[in-house]
Amino acid sequence: SAKAAGRGTFKFFAPEMLADAQERRNMEFDLRSALAENQFSVVYQPSVHIGTQRLSGFEALIRWNHPDRGPVSPDVFIPLAEEIGLIAPIGEWVLRAACAEAASWPQDLRVAVNLSPLQCSSASLPALIAGVLSSTGLPANRLELEITEGVVLANNEQTYSNIASLKSLGVKIALDDFGTGYSSLGYLRTVAFDKIKIDKSFVAGAVAPGSKNAPIIRAVVSLASELGMESTAEGVESQDELALVRQLGCDYVQGYIYGKPMAATEARLLANEGATPAANGFLRFRNE
Ligand code: C2E
Ligand code: MG
Ligand code: MG
Ligand code: MG
Repeated sequence: SAKAAGRGTFKFFAPEMLADAQERRNMEFDLRSALAENQFSVVYQPSVHIGTQRLSGFEALIRWNHPDRGPVSPDVFIPLAEEIGLIAPIGEWVLRAACAEAASWPQDLRVAVNLSPLQCSSASLPALIAGVLSSTGLPANRLELEITEGVVLANNEQTYSNIASLKSLGVKIALDDFGTGYSSLGYLRTVAFDKIKIDKSFVAGAVAPGSKNAPIIRAVVSLASELGMESTAEGVESQDELALVRQLGCDYVQGYIYGKPMAATEARLLANEGATPAANGFLRFRNE
């Protein structure tokens, strides 16, 4: 294990390592006790409205600090948690933490929380969300739930009915990682998303000469706008990328240029400043 290898030879857990049956069993075993042992935390990444350059809110992102391995990526343990039946308690924990935190921010700021496919198709989702909103005092319109294409494409009746119930509560729904899945356009007709988040793989390289990414982003922004949905460009890291996505008409930007995911205490400071942040201006905050 990483621990047996000793200090100074720390190695990160890579997704491929789950292919090893023993590694996978170890990871599952450790995941089962992680919640009870307080190993999870939530970090918050700023989202900025491009037109006004004002902070619009934060996306809540879960972190697992493994006692021996250190940070494990949610891309690794969230799918595992789904497979072994742990996503409900973990997902509920994130929702409560994020909504409680957001309730302390100024009222114009929203929090976005990611939902995994199983959470989306659970019949108890609307009641869970309503309960979390009422116990934390967060108004429904300040919560945005992010779901991925895979969720919608699963074409599950319960998922569609959940989305309708959540929307009638006033909760916002965003389509996350747009463009990375099967990208059937059919479900844009079926589900009235409030926002489309353009995956960071389209932003990366978009400024390179001859890249096809820019016309694709422009088309998605225009599609979103015609459908009455807003758009966010994910993964914006440089000034050139920021200038490009602004020119392409994106409404919001989220990316390292405005800040990496940060601890709740730092997000709270930023939220309460109420300032118009300059790009890179958040870097005085200690990022993870
Ligand atoms: P996502 O929802 O698309 O979140 C955005 C990911 O992009 C985050 O990775 C964030 O740290 C990263 N990112 C943001 N800006 C930049 C940038 O400028 N450059 C680059 N290279 N990356 C950037 P993270 O936190 O590792 O999360 C990975 C994925 O894990 C998330 O993708 C989401 O699908 C999932 N996830 C995270 N937290 C949760 C959770 O609480 N529940 C569920 N169900 N899934 C979660
Ligand atoms: Mg997301
Ligand atoms: Mg995303
Ligand atoms: Mg993602």
